[in-house]
Amino acid sequence: MPGSLISRFDAALFDLDGVCYLGPVPVVHAPEIITRVVSEGVLRAYVTNNASRTPEEVASHLVSIGISATPESIVTSASVACEMLSGMVPQGARVLVIGTQALRDEVAKVGLTMVESSDDNPAAVIHGFTPDLNWEWMSEAALAIRKGAIYFATNMDRTIPRDRGLMVGNGSMVLAIANSTGVKPYSAGKPEPEIFRIAARRIGAERPLAVGDNLNTDIQGAVAAGIPSLHVLTGLATAREVVLAVPEQRPTYLADDMRALVEHYPSQVWDGPWAVSGAARVRWGQDGFVTATGALDGKLDLDTYRALARAAWQAFDEGVSSETIAQATPELEVVR
Ligand SMILES: [Mg+2]
Repeated sequence: MPGSLISRFDAALFDLDGVCYLGPVPVVHAPEIITRVVSEGVLRAYVTNNASRTPEEVASHLVSIGISATPESIVTSASVACEMLSGMVPQGARVLVIGTQALRDEVAKVGLTMVESSDDNPAAVIHGFTPDLNWEWMSEAALAIRKGAIYFATNMDRTIPRDRGLMVGNGSMVLAIANSTGVKPYSAGKPEPEIFRIAARRIGAERPLAVGDNLNTDIQGAVAAGIPSLHVLTGLATAREVVLAVPEQRPTYLADDMRALVEHYPSQVWDGPWAVSGAARVRWGQDGFVTATGALDGKLDLDTYRALARAAWQAFDEGVSSETIAQATPELEVVR
């Protein structure tokens, strides 16, 4: 793949939902592209905020849909939280666990001692997603935190996607305990940068590329970690949301799907006021976008999308209000 986007990197850090799969089904092009880049020697890890499934479960799910994975290649916020927490408390310290068996496994792996009650004076409370959380369990955690236990959340996701829609995520339940105790928790998941750094270190990556669909977790975390990122439109954030992204959530590279990894990525340059990507040229005019290649009628090609996003970001950075830019940005569909 000489000249391809991925050839600039030695590793890819893939998000899972919306990047590799959508619930039970693989995302279009993900299996064949990942197979190809792995066969070319690119290192890979799958980085997920979901702390309720074990690396073994996630890996076998990926393998079942044709995506190469091993348990070691799965970096969950549960394992990162335990690694970070074990550096903050004495060896073998007591920890009250809110979470599933997947989190309990990770707590055991780092040698911490699990307790069930605040009366056992745990040094920390670690809190990952579990659908079984109830008032008694939350209150046990609150009592421990009030006595000085460190509060550590695997992730702060407000929502968790399920087949009927967005349900209450771990972060929303963490905030109930934080609200009750007045203690702000530490967090391991994206958008915290540490999960990317730990993932890169675990697989020995020196020049990783993060691949994600969610601006305020995947991309914001990659930006915070100083790792370049590729955004794909196969999951959460729409093309319009990418164009309107705030500076700390702007991807380095834009694509429709994972095919961009093995394709040439045109250099992104400025020609005076024009943002140029391949043959596409877009600039911000008095109160709207100007393209050199026709109107923005909602459907646009990949390079026009890339140029449009950069023109929008520059306009925002030069002081044009986000409302003005939003008004000038229609819903967009990126087509090949
Ligand atoms: Mg995702």
